[in-house]
Amino acid sequence: MAKTAVVTGASRGIGRAVALRLAKDGNNVVVNYLFDDEDYAGTVKEIEALGVKGIAIKADVSKFDEVKEMMEKVKGEFGTVDILVNNAGITRDGLLARMKEEDFDAVINVNLKSVFNCCRHAVPYMMKQRSGRIINMASVVGLSGQGGQTNYAASKAGIIGFTKSLAKEIGSRNITVNAVAPGFVETPMTDAMPQKAREEILGSIPLGRGATVGDIADAVSFLAGEQAGYITGHVLSINGGMYA
Ligand code: NAP
Repeated sequence: MAKTAVVTGASRGIGRAVALRLAKDGNNVVVNYLFDDEDYAGTVKEIEALGVKGIAIKADVSKFDEVKEMMEKVKGEFGTVDILVNNAGITRDGLLARMKEEDFDAVINVNLKSVFNCCRHAVPYMMKQRSGRIINMASVVGLSGQGGQTNYAASKAGIIGFTKSLAKEIGSRNITVNAVAPGFVETPMTDAMPQKAREEILGSIPLGRGATVGDIADAVSFLAGEQAGYITGHVLSINGGMYA
């Protein structure tokens, strides 16, 4: 029977590639998004073309009650939540000395609190069925740190601590919790970076290129699949050798 995967922030970028990859693996997929009213429809169409069910749910993952409602809708539609990919994320870069409080709060809420919100409302279903896979989108920056990204790095380092802790808490229920930590990935998020910064980063990657969204989707697909059943509390770096 097809499993149900929820991918947050799946209207574009990495989330979209992950949603399509999980659909290709035979899972029904819930595409969560917030603003991108045009792009999500295309993602859902492509999911359905792969012969599984796709639905889109608009919800702000930083809001506890909106996520509760979203998970209830998923449960109503599919009867279960088997795979949760916490991917939604934003940046509000700036040097600390000039960072506004609202930019710190927004990044922590969308990137980190969302992971709490989604796990808090999906884990009870997974516990009941005694199985589940949770994959959280961290970043190389959560491991290495990065000037101009104290808010983002804190959110991603927080995700890593959260992942390791929850893995210990719910392993006995056959639920695995892992994180992936991409390096530089070509997406709308990185398209917005200044050209000079992009070139500097690309020049520092031993494998000589940025990641494709497919590179990240492959890793998520592995962690969500049968072969990764004994892996939990792990942080998988996908960064071309940028940071070990
Ligand atoms: P992206 O292209 O900007 O896409 C971000 C996605 O998150 C969009 O689908 C967006 O949907 C959604 N989103 C944003 N705020 C949301 C909210 N409050 N509620 C629900 N959805 C929300 O970003 P990306 O590059 O694919 O990044 C995806 C994840 O990978 C992020 O967690 C990012 O930190 C991480 N990552 C990216 C890179 C990279 O180099 N690109 C590297 C390491 C880690 P709407 O537009 O509809 O709001």
